[in-house]
Amino acid sequence: MKVILVVEDEEAIRSSLAENLRFEGFEVVEAADGVEADQCLEEGGLDLVVLDLMLPRRSGTDVLRDLRKSGSNIPVLVLTARDREVDKVLLLEIGADDYVTKPFSFAEVLARIKALLRRASYQGSEAVPKVIKVGDAEIDFGAFTLKKGEEIYNLSPLEAGMLQLLAERRGRAVTREEFLRKVWGYSVLPDTRTVDFHVLKLRRFLEADPARPRHILTVHGVGYRLA
Ligand code: CA
Repeated sequence: MKVILVVEDEEAIRSSLAENLRFEGFEVVEAADGVEADQCLEEGGLDLVVLDLMLPRRSGTDVLRDLRKSGSNIPVLVLTARDREVDKVLLLEIGADDYVTKPFSFAEVLARIKALLRRASYQGSEAVPKVIKVGDAEIDFGAFTLKKGEEIYNLSPLEAGMLQLLAERRGRAVTREEFLRKVWGYSVLPDTRTVDFHVLKLRRFLEADPARPRHILTVHGVGYRLA
């Protein structure tokens, strides 16, 4: 049974999410603020975190940032407030895997959670070697690391999956829909901008100038290709 930590201070949202997730067969741990969230994360045994950003005592942003600093790759689905524009760059920087905007439907959250959990078990492609070079970076799919000089970036299973698909098709375009089907595992396609969000994240680490990428190139109107 997969264990999900739901961190949300609004009791009505938290208990409704928890109840629905339990009904779907998940085990749910609940935390009402950032300090409780830290305690649950420390205890471990979790498969996924649903994290509200605006929390009392300690913000979700701080919780997530510290979680990633500790080297954890656990999938995190962020809940963001409806009345402010989603700061995608901030979400990338702190290490979110996906996000939903309030108000959300449970069906939407459930679809994202299932996709994140499928991704977490993504085994990768046999056609791609365990270690590849992209520019001056070295990607190790076994260790889930991307090394550039002295810097080491821990890849999430999703990011590793995206890079493997790009590498498998090196020089040719991978469409946004293919990313969603093969890496996310969606059969019903959500907003394809979610792919762009994650490409932006990879470029920020991989490219010397993320605004002028030389490795992960945009194929206009189609998707991306690895040069
Ligand atoms: Ca809140």
